[in-house]
Amino acid sequence: MKNFGLHIWGDDNFVIEDDTVNINHASNPSLLQLTQEIREKGYKGPLLLRFPHLIQKQIDTLFSTFAKAKKEFGYRGNFHAVFPLKVNQFPNFVHSLIEVSQTYRYGLEAGSKAELIIAITKTPLGAPITVNGFKDKEMIGLCFIGAKMGHNITVTIEGIGELKSILEVYEEFNRNSDTPISPKIGIRIRLHSTGIGMWAKSGGYSSKFGLTSTELLEVYEILKEHTLLENLWMVHFHIGSQMGDIAPLKKALREAGNIYADLKRRGAHALSAINIGGGLAVEYAQHQHTRERNYALSEFANDVIYLMQEIAKSKGVDEPDIFTESGRYIAASHSVLVAPVLELFSQEYHEKSLRPKEKNPPLIQELFDLYNTIKRTNAREYLHDALDHMESLLTLFDLGYIDLEDRSNTEILVNLIIKRAISLLKNEATDELRRLQDRIQERYLVNFSAFQSLPDFWGLSQHFPVMPLNHLSSAPTNPASLWDITCDSDGEIGFDHEHPLYLHDVDLNKEEYFVGFFLTGAYQEILGMKHNLFTHPTEAVIRFDEAGNYHIEALIEAQNLMDVLDDLDYDTGIIDKALKQRIEESEAISPEEKQELLGKIYLYLSENSYLKTSQALGETEQGVNA
Ligand SMILES: *Cc1c(COP(=O)(O)O)cnc(C)c1O
Repeated sequence: MKNFGLHIWGDDNFVIEDDTVNINHASNPSLLQLTQEIREKGYKGPLLLRFPHLIQKQIDTLFSTFAKAKKEFGYRGNFHAVFPLKVNQFPNFVHSLIEVSQTYRYGLEAGSKAELIIAITKTPLGAPITVNGFKDKEMIGLCFIGAKMGHNITVTIEGIGELKSILEVYEEFNRNSDTPISPKIGIRIRLHSTGIGMWAKSGGYSSKFGLTSTELLEVYEILKEHTLLENLWMVHFHIGSQMGDIAPLKKALREAGNIYADLKRRGAHALSAINIGGGLAVEYAQHQHTRERNYALSEFANDVIYLMQEIAKSKGVDEPDIFTESGRYIAASHSVLVAPVLELFSQEYHEKSLRPKEKNPPLIQELFDLYNTIKRTNAREYLHDALDHMESLLTLFDLGYIDLEDRSNTEILVNLIIKRAISLLKNEATDELRRLQDRIQERYLVNFSAFQSLPDFWGLSQHFPVMPLNHLSSAPTNPASLWDITCDSDGEIGFDHEHPLYLHDVDLNKEEYFVGFFLTGAYQEILGMKHNLFTHPTEAVIRFDEAGNYHIEALIEAQNLMDVLDDLDYDTGIIDKALKQRIEESEAISPEEKQELLGKIYLYLSENSYLKTSQALGETEQGVNA
């Protein structure tokens, strides 16, 4: 797997050039070069790199694919899209999204009051805003305020109770007005068909959201009674995220399409849009056999357009406008988390750590001979001999016949023999070899928190593509497991035969080695948790100018220690005082040293929780301002 499955998950966004993985755009800078440039400014620890051109690519592709499908079928409805904020609300992302989507009237979707505030302040006037999720009167009031600002805003009714609130708020906001202004109304339907996969709960009959058929009729009648039917214009559904298979979408489209057509024929004349929610999947797989998505965007778009056209035709109603709320598809590819490797744990099993004696015990001498003469034809036999000798040697140690140096030599030699045997026999993978591979896995300690940066790996076993940023011209040989720096054993991406990851055998005393985690732009940032108080990593936006040169902008450093404590509602004034007092009152510290320690502690407090050690430089880095 020399290209780390880049041809499966990479979507031509990255390219391997010589030794490094590069951005496949403009001047093609390597991720390593970008990383080093930011680190030279003093920002160490994990880095989250954002690439607005990749957001633009997804939006362009979404709109052009639907435009093509519309043209192909001669579809008369329009296509619109909004970005669901819950997928990524970080300002560096949202601002880039708005900037790159200007030509499309691309809008935002909000599911809470805070998200709604982002939506009504950041969405360009005219671009649609949709508001989903449970709402109280205040949230509905915000939708009315949005409408009065001039926004094209649709509030989706998730339950009958919300409709009653809407009627009340309508009265309240239009009491003194001859020309009432109101957001448009959408209705979320409760589908019979369910989504598939681990996020399927958002669709289906037992879903948290949506109206049953009986409730739909009731809503229709209530709106009619209040002469608000002309505000009802959208039917909405969402079948769940990361839809690997297209079949559930087709079923949902048929259900939603028929509901749309029936309501329209019944008298909901203003009804003219179907919002198909999100669910468009992202390919996270690094291996053919673990592919997660079995359809292309063109198939998805064709199905939507074709089915809506068919239903409209057979029921004799106008073809509806189509709205999508795809989030994962738009955001996932835009960011890469780059994390420095701090340590390779089994590097003690290195030839240079051997301590051969003038006269080794005979079995150890034999291990030396096996190691020096192993080749493809005898590899399996020598491997078995080595394992057998190890058992005997460990027993000899327990009985006191050999010493600690002998035991250390045994461990190193057997590990080296296993490694060599595996590489000699790699074309005849057997269960035995696989088991041995587990045994000699290299554990890479990586300066990041899986809880903070890959929460779906922790919570849902979601796989994210991983690859090193350089050494890509040589084949990686170490079966790798990645350990994060939290004190939690769940913060480990273990070596696993379903998704084997191999990394390089590097000497961190001589060079730095970074791993990139890809497709982390959707959901991971906001779901990330501060386990062990590791916070959102330092982030930067990489923009390309007309000439193709890149610019590193909008750097935001990971929160410093005091801010982290402040967020937990510690009184940082008291903490500050306690630190000072404890140093000042300590009898073990001289007055000059007190000054020095205070200086040090203030420097540390201005920094973040991630580790700053860099073995390659053989020193602990000083802070940004130091
Ligand atoms: C979460 C959500 C989306 C986004 O789903 P993706 O799978 O990320 O595309 C869209 N619409 C609604 C209503 C949602 O809740």
